[in-house]
Amino acid sequence: LTACGANSSNSGSSGSSSSSAPAPAGGGASGKVGVILPETATSARWEAFDKPMLQAALSAQGFSSDIQNAQGDNQKFSSLADGFISQGVKVLIIAPSDPAVGAQIEAKAKAAGIPVIDYDRPSLGGSANYYVSFDNEKVGELQAQGLADALKSKPGAGVVQIEGAPTDNNATLFGDGHDKILKPLYDSGALKLVQKQPINDWDPQVGGQTFEQIFSRAGGKVDGVVAANDELAGAVITVLKKNGLNGKVPVTGQDSTAAGLQAILRGDQLLTIFKPIKEEAENTAKLAAALAKNDTAAADKIATGTLHDPKNNRDIKSVLLAPQLITVNDVKKVIQAGYVKASDVCTGD
Ligand code: BGC
Repeated sequence: LTACGANSSNSGSSGSSSSSAPAPAGGGASGKVGVILPETATSARWEAFDKPMLQAALSAQGFSSDIQNAQGDNQKFSSLADGFISQGVKVLIIAPSDPAVGAQIEAKAKAAGIPVIDYDRPSLGGSANYYVSFDNEKVGELQAQGLADALKSKPGAGVVQIEGAPTDNNATLFGDGHDKILKPLYDSGALKLVQKQPINDWDPQVGGQTFEQIFSRAGGKVDGVVAANDELAGAVITVLKKNGLNGKVPVTGQDSTAAGLQAILRGDQLLTIFKPIKEEAENTAKLAAALAKNDTAAADKIATGTLHDPKNNRDIKSVLLAPQLITVNDVKKVIQAGYVKASDVCTGD
């Protein structure tokens, strides 16, 4: 397999590789930063990529960090935030499951004079002044275009869209990207929409059950699936496999997780999306260093983009990084970037 040959084997330690050894604590910042990640079950990215990469990036700026994962529990998320606020962290970095919870936390942090950075997921309706993420509509476009290309030789092919959580603005943007590419193809008859279904909480189990119901209602007439991320893709592939259709019905994914890349190498998954989370973490850490010094001018030089928050009709200053399409030929890029080890994806089956 392309990614697994002797030449491309790369020991890639979990993420801090590629550019050079971590910079000595030269960022000039000090003190502690609190980070709260949303879930473990919805994507392997949070623990495998975000956690170590944020830790390294914050430490390179001179911060110590406490990085927690609320595991999908809103109450836990709030109490972790309360703890960080009462400890007086320099900066709070949050990626909530529920943006309303994030917004509440932001109000409390603001009252305590602690700057908050929205990390990856925005807390719409909140008061954080900075957001670091990816061009998430572009993520959706890459997924949908990849699927459309794979279905070119099947006019009228039936497509199911298994979307992320309706409460996650990222999922909304992924869905917008899907629709931007697919709607014209549905309209022309090149493809046929079987069903578009958001999955509450990005729950992969719910995703699998939902897909199974759609699949059986459609009498098995499903030719391609837009699954919003690798975990949902895995759940869809399990259902296809039960029906002997894995590898025959192309399925998209996102996050370039080890499991997603394995599924691509097996031929069960068409594509995934690589989001350079190391850059996301580094931009976040640099912003945190600027905010800890109250240096808004420096922060504004980093966050040159904007995300519109329709809930309180304002633009949040943003860093929006570029996502990359990964198909079977590009798996080695993710290995070479140090996100996964060749031995994690080259399982040999
Ligand atoms: C992230 C995705 C992730 C999903 C589920 C989204 O907000 O942007 O990378 O797959 O949440 O955790």
